[in-house]
Amino acid sequence: MTRKILILPGDGIGPEIVAEAVKVLDRLKADGLDIELEQGLVGGAAYDAMGHPLPEETLAQARAADAVLLGAVGGPRYEALERSLRPEQGLLGLRAGLGLFSNLRPAILYPQLADASTLKPEVVSGLDILIVRELTGGIYFGQPRGVRTLDNGEKEGFNTLVYRESEIERIGRSAFEIARKRGGRLCSVDKANVLEVTELWRQVMVRLAGEYPDVELSHMYVDNAAMQLVRAPRQFDVMVTTNMFGDILSDAAAMLTGSIGMLPSASLDAAGKGMYEPIHGSAPDIAGQGVANPLATLLSVAMMLRYSLDEPAAADRIEAAVGRVLDQGLRTPDIAAEGQPTVGTAEMGDAVVAAL
Ligand code: NAD
Repeated sequence: MTRKILILPGDGIGPEIVAEAVKVLDRLKADGLDIELEQGLVGGAAYDAMGHPLPEETLAQARAADAVLLGAVGGPRYEALERSLRPEQGLLGLRAGLGLFSNLRPAILYPQLADASTLKPEVVSGLDILIVRELTGGIYFGQPRGVRTLDNGEKEGFNTLVYRESEIERIGRSAFEIARKRGGRLCSVDKANVLEVTELWRQVMVRLAGEYPDVELSHMYVDNAAMQLVRAPRQFDVMVTTNMFGDILSDAAAMLTGSIGMLPSASLDAAGKGMYEPIHGSAPDIAGQGVANPLATLLSVAMMLRYSLDEPAAADRIEAAVGRVLDQGLRTPDIAAEGQPTVGTAEMGDAVVAAL
């Protein structure tokens, strides 16, 4: 069956890096992968063309597709717009509209780039962890929320951390399934010693563990997890946590690898359909110069093949090809050591296609 992939280049460097992903997908298609690509508009590009960052048409295209590949959205030109029309709303609208509650953020350190990390190479070399973050619930969405004025005139701000059992269970299942496809170890991160919500979180994870005897479940308090990530990050395989804890821990984990231009991400629904994107933004400071690193986007394509299209061999091929071009010494400016010669976006993409 032909699988449909919706390509949303977006803004800034988005179109440049996505063009390289299309080259890779075209090559896999020529080699027999049964896919069909379709282009759509999101973010500032959609606002410019149609007056809204997420036109109805784009959401319909996304719903009809088997997977979505997004470049990046946003840019200084759009910052003065009212909030509902800003490019970022396109992204949030897609997440909500597609019910993408499971956010997968890997942090992989390629041995060739061990020097890019701020941590010592012996601490991070070989790092390969995946953080599964709950994306549509928790304190970022809980009601009631707001700022109110008390009787004595003092202001009070409040948010609500709330999770239903069903919400915990579905993110838990997503994480157990993924741990099964990786190293078979899952660490659930909570604050069960202080927060009742995460006590429930822990109970649900323990219950689910009974259904996944092949996955080894452990628990860690979030403060310790933050410390362990910078002390001995290789102890982790898959981590699963709440929306806010995951927001913070996944950025810390990303920086262990040194380059934002290397990291992919995925957001999945209950059926495994997903949206895939590099973790970085639209990089307006380098847009249009042809120097952006396309590898995070190419690695996002690999995640798409693995998690939504069930084509693990094709995913392996892309990841191996990326390893090979790094071995060959090819570097975009963001991952080059001082004085090392660099290549541009298209040259890097072409090299990966050749290495495929
Ligand atoms: P950014 O990730 O765009 O850029 C941060 C720094 O990293 C910049 O110096 C940039 O040049 C560099 N960088 C990023 N990606 C790179 C790549 N592939 N190759 C080489 N260098 C790269 O973050 P920012 O500057 O805070 O935000 C810029 C815009 O992007 C804003 O409008 C923001 O809202 C938006 N944004 C979008 C997303 C998204 O689409 N998912 C995520 C974050 C930020």
